[in-house]
Amino acid sequence: MKKAVLRSPGVLEIEQTDVPACPEGGLVVKVQACAICGTDVESFLHGQRMAQLPPQLGHELSGIVSSVEEGVGLFREGDRVVLNQSVPCGECPDCQRGRENLCDRTLRIGGGFADYIAIPAVAVQKGNILPMPAGLSFRAATLTEALAAVVNGQDLLDIRLGDTVLVIGAGAVGCLHGQLAKAQGASRVILADINPARMKNAEMLSGADLLLDSSSENLSARVKEETNGLGAEKVIVACSSGAVQEEALQMVAKRGRVSYFGYAFKEWPWIKFDSNACHYREFFVTGAFAYSRRQFQLALDLIARGTVRVDPLITHVFPLERLVEALQTMKRGTGLKVLVEF
Ligand SMILES: [Zn+2]
Ligand SMILES: [Zn+2]
Repeated sequence: MKKAVLRSPGVLEIEQTDVPACPEGGLVVKVQACAICGTDVESFLHGQRMAQLPPQLGHELSGIVSSVEEGVGLFREGDRVVLNQSVPCGECPDCQRGRENLCDRTLRIGGGFADYIAIPAVAVQKGNILPMPAGLSFRAATLTEALAAVVNGQDLLDIRLGDTVLVIGAGAVGCLHGQLAKAQGASRVILADINPARMKNAEMLSGADLLLDSSSENLSARVKEETNGLGAEKVIVACSSGAVQEEALQMVAKRGRVSYFGYAFKEWPWIKFDSNACHYREFFVTGAFAYSRRQFQLALDLIARGTVRVDPLITHVFPLERLVEALQTMKRGTGLKVLVEF
């Protein structure tokens, strides 16, 4: 079988290797599709330098069970499955308090840019291999992780009927945020981006009511104007920009919530924060990291039922041999979601 191996930053080779043996109590999945995650691009360019990143490239995958250990009653050969790569420890204080997405001892499973991947018993036992609902395509199933993280972000935001939700960043994640906010009852979604090319199809893909091109418009002024001077109840920063994180604080309504969904650049994560604005206007600021197993299952169901439409977000599909090109396409940001299909 073929497998992509990262030799060093920027040096990736497609290797010929043996199909993995079935782990005791686990199974082997024949990969059908594997989406490129932002973390794959990060690891490809700089090497695997953060504990929060999966150890090998490729984890947003769907496939078919090709061999299964006897006694693993849950699955049979031929089952269509999707992987949830984050296996929480289940024992630490975070896990015990119901926030397993923050577990520092999370086991992460990677190596999905390969014809086959071995899944250890612990992942099967903890529900990290999910049966794919009938009718769902392998392609669409690879978007489950991205949507699961969006579900977690919005769980922390508590979107209510009637809210105006401002999403900054019209990438795949921003579009998922727009669609989900609508499904949660937001009466208005405003989507902003600095890249007019990305905005072209964003209305259709995000369900947004209003698109703002922040390369040519003053975003804060426009958001105030659109909300009678009040600001948006919920503001989601779905990009990696400290300047935008700062600006978000000026656009949130009193008692509103701001989600720093995108991480800031590691080299300079500091921003200016007007604590008086926070004091007088009583707004909340929260981060958003990863997702729980419940949120992953929920995301899979939302995609399968068509509540959130992911197919139009898949703009590029490459074969494994062209993985480097796929990673570069993702890095350039010209497309939305980039997939490797087997
Ligand atoms: Zn991912
Ligand atoms: Zn834990």
